[in-house]
Amino acid sequence: MSERKSIACPICKKAVYLGDAEFPFCSERCRLIDLGNWSSEEYRIPGPLTDSEMESLSRPEEKRPEDRPSEEWRRDD
Ligand SMILES: [Zn+2]
Repeated sequence: MSERKSIACPICKKAVYLGDAEFPFCSERCRLIDLGNWSSEEYRIPGPLTDSEMESLSRPEEKRPEDRPSEEWRRDD
């Protein structure tokens, strides 16, 4: 009697054995369901920034240090 390691299928919680063709899913169907979940909106991890906030942060013209007068220059004057 050899003991096979098993986990619960992430989709249907059925036992899946290590080495199974669709591991860690119990079947191809569950694997495809999981794939679909990840590509849909509901599985997206909510971050602290919204898409528009990220966009404004990556816009270089909104915070260009060259446009500001350097205070170190003034002190040398
Ligand atoms: Zn399953």
